[in-house]
Amino acid sequence: MQYRVGLGHDRHRLEAGRAFLLGGVEIPHTLGLAGHSDADVLLHALIDALLGACCLGDIGELFPDTDPRFKGIDSTKLLAEAYRQVTERGWRVENVDCTVFAQQPKLSPYKQQIAGHLRGLLDLADDCVNVKAKTGERVGPIGREEAVDCSVVVLLSRDVS
Ligand code: MG
Repeated sequence: MQYRVGLGHDRHRLEAGRAFLLGGVEIPHTLGLAGHSDADVLLHALIDALLGACCLGDIGELFPDTDPRFKGIDSTKLLAEAYRQVTERGWRVENVDCTVFAQQPKLSPYKQQIAGHLRGLLDLADDCVNVKAKTGERVGPIGREEAVDCSVVVLLSRDVS
């Protein structure tokens, strides 16, 4: 068996008038995440973790934010394409571990729902996806509610013939 680990990190600014999407789940909040796509910070970090594990570059190379095709795009579509590229090379996802950094809203009511949605997107078992939430301790861009960050680690495996 061959294993590869991948790390992804992303940040999006908080703005009024935008949806707040995390892992494909819309979270009710007065502010949303700004960006060229739907700005789903968790899915973007997950995509970078998957691409990183396979030495496939990063999300900006695959889906440039200057490309009008990706304006407002549902990031689950970007994940599906990145995941296709990973699986076509014979890789399986062993597990996904995510940490979201947001001062507000409180994410504890949504962590299980987000993990479940990610399991569905990647066709994974119950104990393979974990979602954690941290605040910014009221300091820095996270703590001042200017931005939301997310870090994701994935482990991939494939059989060696
Ligand atoms: Mg992003």
